Amino acid sequence: MKTFSIAIHGGAGTLVKGMMTADKEVGYKSALEYALNEGYAILEKGGSAMDAVETAVRALEDSPLFNAGKGSVFTASGTHEMDASIMDGKSLKAGAVSLITGIKNPVSLARDVMEKSEHVFMAGEGAMEFAKAHQHELSDPDYFYDEFRHQQWVEIRDTESFQLDHAKKKEGKFGTVGAVACDEFGNIAAATSTGGMTNKKFGRVGDSPMIGAGTYANNETCAISCTGSGEYFIRGVVAYDVASIIEHTGRSLDDAATDVIMNRVAKLGGDGGLIAINTKGEISMPFNTEGMYRAFKKSDGEAAILIYGA
Ligand code: ASP
Repeated sequence: MKTFSIAIHGGAGTLVKGMMTADKEVGYKSALEYALNEGYAILEKGGSAMDAVETAVRALEDSPLFNAGKGSVFTASGTHEMDASIMDGKSLKAGAVSLITGIKNPVSLARDVMEKSEHVFMAGEGAMEFAKAHQHELSDPDYFYDEFRHQQWVEIRDTESFQLDHAKKKEGKFGTVGAVACDEFGNIAAATSTGGMTNKKFGRVGDSPMIGAGTYANNETCAISCTGSGEYFIRGVVAYDVASIIEHTGRSLDDAATDVIMNRVAKLGGDGGLIAINTKGEISMPFNTEGMYRAFKKSDGEAAILIYGA
């Protein structure tokens, strides 16, 4: 029997049961369910893991609830600068974009960098030129305007501080989105997309577009998408660290992923989590925060949409 599976995340953080209204919880769960099913439908039709992760991330980018695409947070200058990346575990090809503005679906631009250029990573003006040349949909600033996100920025715009999505000292939430999938051919892929951090300074780049830090995929080991305090995830080379532990020690996917998030990232001082998958369709979703928006669905019928920790 052919097997396939997919997992997605919508960010990790201080998500404590009872802190969110029931309506809000339903809203987040249905946005996750929609994106999960969009990606799963691709796999069900015999599609590739790459198409499944791109489709799921596009759906999350189109939701205002998550800090990616439409829901991206405001930078220090009141604009939106987005980052995204995608990697194919079969070919080890990857594409990434950073510091882009006005692009409706950054993950698809990252995929075009992978497939239609000689490069892996494009940023800023060059990435925007590339996007225009490849007919990417550009939306005006109104599309990205969200009253709540604007308020978050207004509160800290005249200060030196910057925040990870809703982070308010102890109340932090990282809203980056991501997906990992394993298709019926046993190929895996990963994709991540983010608006970064509220009030981030011009030019700040997090882990999400960095292959090896926020995103990684290799059929030999695993596919990973991270969310959390990007500076620490870059220094921990987190996504690749999980793959490397599996490759060099033979430890299981869950054991390696949990060790990296709970011990290695935490030791550096980083908060967040990741989603991981391997070619057997096994899934792991560890986080060292109170919660993480996450969901998975497997062809054997197992599925869940979760927000809080145990
Ligand atoms: N990792 C992202 C960044 O640092 C933030 C997030 O996960 O929400 O840009």
